Amino acid sequence: MLREVASPHLERRRSLAREQGLPKMGLEHRNRLLRAVEEDILAKFDSRLLPVELRKGASLQNLSEPVEWVYFPDGALFAIMSETLAGESVAASLIGYDGALGVFEACGSRISYQRAIVHVSGRAWRMRAGAYRELYDRSSNLRTAVHKHVELLLAESRQFVACNAIHPVEGRLSRSLLESLDKSAPETILPITQEGLAQMLGVQRTTVAVCVSALQKQGLLRNSRGAIEVIDRAGLEKAACSCRATLEYIRQEIYQSRGESCDA
Ligand SMILES: [Zn+2]
Repeated sequence: MLREVASPHLERRRSLAREQGLPKMGLEHRNRLLRAVEEDILAKFDSRLLPVELRKGASLQNLSEPVEWVYFPDGALFAIMSETLAGESVAASLIGYDGALGVFEACGSRISYQRAIVHVSGRAWRMRAGAYRELYDRSSNLRTAVHKHVELLLAESRQFVACNAIHPVEGRLSRSLLESLDKSAPETILPITQEGLAQMLGVQRTTVAVCVSALQKQGLLRNSRGAIEVIDRAGLEKAACSCRATLEYIRQEIYQSRGESCDA
């Protein structure tokens, strides 16, 4: 499940990151929560913060199982799945470099009440839940960043209720593609299949195929085998439903707020 994966998309990302002069694999601590931690505190946890390459489809959390690891995406994109008893599932939340998986459960029930999978292959950092609790206790900056992350996830969840009920699939698809890129890839290619997009939106794959074809005809994206390349980002922004702008506004407001720690 956790191993180096030979992927042209990963290689492309690393190559781009090297060109941009980023350190090491080019994505070191790009994760927003890790970047928030005070440097001297994070240095003490260096040996317990481990880089992993995660392959699409890998399971990170399962229903009613203990949360043993906290994951900080740094290129990979995670999906938290909402499921029915009949086994149907839809991605309820996407977690990319701006968030983390397990940060609430590790300090709460320590049990997962959801299933989380790798939606887009890529790198992440992981830390044992016990080590994370130590880090959380020591770093007031991390606590503030985690609180903001919770606030944003709740805001996204509320918005998606309206989006799923009201907005047409083409607009939702455009928004989801842009958000997935923002949360994972420092480029314009998203290694995701139409099946993956259907799962993300909770619609039939044939519906996704129709929408992708329409967006392709407008010259906004290119659908190649196992990947979507955004050609006209500005055009795709226009095609996205209004939730894109609403969530961007909320995101900026939350990130720019003073966000003083509750214990300050
Ligand atoms: Zn919407």
